Amino acid sequence: MDYRYPPDTLPFRMEVRQWLQHNLDEELRGLSNRGALNPEQLDALRRWNRKLADAGYAAISWPAEYGGRAAGVMEQVVLAEEMHRAEAPAALNPIGLANIAPSIMAWGTEEQKRTLLPRMQRGDDIWCQGFSEPGAGSDLASLRCRAVLDGDHFIVNGQKVWNTLGHLADYCELLVRTDPDAPKHQGITCLLVDMHLPGITVKPLTTLTGEDEFSEIFFEDVRAPTSALLGPVNQGWQVAMTTLSNERAGVANLHLGVRKKIARLIQAAREREVDGLPVSRDPIARQQLARVYLYGEYQKALADVCIAGELNGRPPGAESSITKQSWSDIEQLIGETSASVLGAEAQRGDWGDNRLYSRATSIAGGTTQINKNIIARRVLGLPKD
Ligand SMILES: Cc1cc2nc3c(=O)[nH]c(=O)nc-3n(C[C@H](O)[C@H](O)[C@H](O)COP(=O)(O)OP(=O)(O)OC[C@H]3O[C@@H](n4cnc5c(N)ncnc54)[C@H](O)[C@@H]3O)c2cc1C
Repeated sequence: MDYRYPPDTLPFRMEVRQWLQHNLDEELRGLSNRGALNPEQLDALRRWNRKLADAGYAAISWPAEYGGRAAGVMEQVVLAEEMHRAEAPAALNPIGLANIAPSIMAWGTEEQKRTLLPRMQRGDDIWCQGFSEPGAGSDLASLRCRAVLDGDHFIVNGQKVWNTLGHLADYCELLVRTDPDAPKHQGITCLLVDMHLPGITVKPLTTLTGEDEFSEIFFEDVRAPTSALLGPVNQGWQVAMTTLSNERAGVANLHLGVRKKIARLIQAAREREVDGLPVSRDPIARQQLARVYLYGEYQKALADVCIAGELNGRPPGAESSITKQSWSDIEQLIGETSASVLGAEAQRGDWGDNRLYSRATSIAGGTTQINKNIIARRVLGLPKD
């Protein structure tokens, strides 16, 4: 338990802890909702997601009218901590629940909210985010996937890439260009596309760790009904900013994962010998472990700054960029430290996967260079380059 958090969150913490003790099956413990899930794992996660939804824990920050608890930031923090502590899998739809749902709530029609949100919350529909393209990542507004209005349908043609969960998705929050002659931020529209429509081809992309975590999605004369429109035509950039600001707001919980890995690494160093010497007695290894431990605690302090900002009604801004950047640096430092401290053991299994996967953290959710530019301008007040 964290003594720094207000005592009035204690009853909620106890409620969640007891619920997890009674409801989390042993075989679910530690199961990740990321990567290549086989059908049995997917079924198990879907059942777990429904349990979470029935108990009101799948989307606690959502308003009650959409099945949430309108929970404040401290309850969200406590729930994340207790889920981590119990090694409970997160809900099946992380991108949908955290990033896409707030956009549907802000921009959607009543019909969209009523039909899409409950199924998303229960994990009945899996959602992906169709923003990036081969020529549009950091410069997202250059996207070229086209949609042309034809009666009561949009005809969509083009390609998306790096779509997390794309190979499992039932729906996609898709950004398309609807006015090629307008300035690039003004000719974009957002559609909520049923991924089972004819003309959609999904090709899984295999990562360095061998998992099919994300996909390429190809659209060939796909007829999406106009009821799929989210927000006004040609105002998709504003919808995308709602989605991305919620993605950035989620960084406050990142310290939970890194601090758990650091604790495991220190424990592994206590138990291992390399060349007949206990790793924990090696002076270089001790320095490296102390360094990575300090960075983990620093990540927690940054998370607390984000939480304090949220509690004081400050919109998530540059501090999210600092926290995201620091998380990516720490993930990669954990990878390097594990390789140095554990030797050959760090090349395989969980440590090997972790080290390879850590490379993606400086790209996903905004690259290191883009984050540094944001910090330079908004925190340091330096001129735009
Ligand atoms: C694990 C993972 C999950 C992802 N999930 C999704 C998803 O679900 N949906 C989705 O749509 N996308 C997703 N992405 C894609 C991600 O958003 C993009 O990869 C990211 O925005 C970078 O775009 P890019 O790959 O096109 O690289 P580019 O933008 O082409 O960048 C290439 C390099 O140039 C640098 N660079 C670019 N512009 C500048 C600049 N102005 N100044 C300085 N340097 C610059 C970048 O930092 C980078 O090093 C995911 C990516 C990863 C790694």
